Amino acid sequence: MARKILEVNEMSAGFLVNKEIVKATDRISFNVEEGKTLCIVGESGSGKSVTSLAIMRLIDYAGGAILEGDITFNGASLPAKDQEEMRHIRGNQIAMIFQDPMSALNPVFTVGDQIAESLRLHQNKSDKDAMKEAVELLRQVGIPSPEVRAKQYPHELSGGMCQRVVIAIALACRPQLLIADEPTTALDVTVQAQILDLLQNLQKETGMAIILITHDMGVAAEVADRIVVMYAGGIMEEGSVEEIFAKPSHPYTVGLLKSIPGFEANDGNELYTIKGTIPRINQLPTGCRFHPRCEHAMDICRKQEPGFFQIGQDHKAACWLFEEHAAESKVSPARAAIEHGEVRV
Ligand code: SF4
Repeated sequence: MARKILEVNEMSAGFLVNKEIVKATDRISFNVEEGKTLCIVGESGSGKSVTSLAIMRLIDYAGGAILEGDITFNGASLPAKDQEEMRHIRGNQIAMIFQDPMSALNPVFTVGDQIAESLRLHQNKSDKDAMKEAVELLRQVGIPSPEVRAKQYPHELSGGMCQRVVIAIALACRPQLLIADEPTTALDVTVQAQILDLLQNLQKETGMAIILITHDMGVAAEVADRIVVMYAGGIMEEGSVEEIFAKPSHPYTVGLLKSIPGFEANDGNELYTIKGTIPRINQLPTGCRFHPRCEHAMDICRKQEPGFFQIGQDHKAACWLFEEHAAESKVSPARAAIEHGEVRV
């Protein structure tokens, strides 16, 4: 087993809303291993981006805070560090790329300057060495004629090329962990595939770990080693990509999979949607937070929050259907639907 580079343990992060603290993530735990990709999947409002801000400790600047639990990186607690220490870790050891490359780049500097700036800041390179390496990084992220492109401004490049530049900036200091928050959402489909391929190739070359945040199970299927499914601030299911796609167990995960175009729709042509909307973090329902939208909700679901139940050796779900005595049948409706061929996975 690869070394755990990041461990998130019972971590809650939240914000002050109307003089009350509300949790945007609720006692979440997961690990990221060296050289592996963990995908955090969920709808908007599920807490996945807050999770990444908490890991980077950027949540402090967004008016929030880590409320409880711990995040350790290479064995050291990140919440225990001050912002000066975190500044050194950010960009050097943990880097982040965001959804919209155009807003991540500064329009008044050339892309070469922006990559070189990172090298000058974090690695004390001279101007000449930093620019030489910036050109090399542009080549590494697949930008043709990198010497020419380095002298151009962001508006002279396509969206896909700008995202490659953002990746080059993130890679400039050879981070051990790259957090990519919806890195392909703002790009068209063919460019999306190229960027995902690029991230995977760079991971093979550098051995970095990746946390990829996405609402798209199709993206997770392409790149993940492990998947964490989040809903309304909590983790609903976690497992290897093979387990999650072969045996999706939590009704929310099953719903996300059924929503993939071409994956499966119960009645032929119509695309499946999970009914209802995700609750506000300060208006969570009692019991299971997914119960108002769940087709399989039972009495216990409305009253008591489920803990994690083991589905397989390395696969767990927070759902009462998997608690032996809570369900009428030991086979969950979600699993039964899969086994009876009503839902193909
Ligand atoms: S605990 Fe109950 S409501 Fe929640 S997902 Fe499972 S079956 Fe549905």
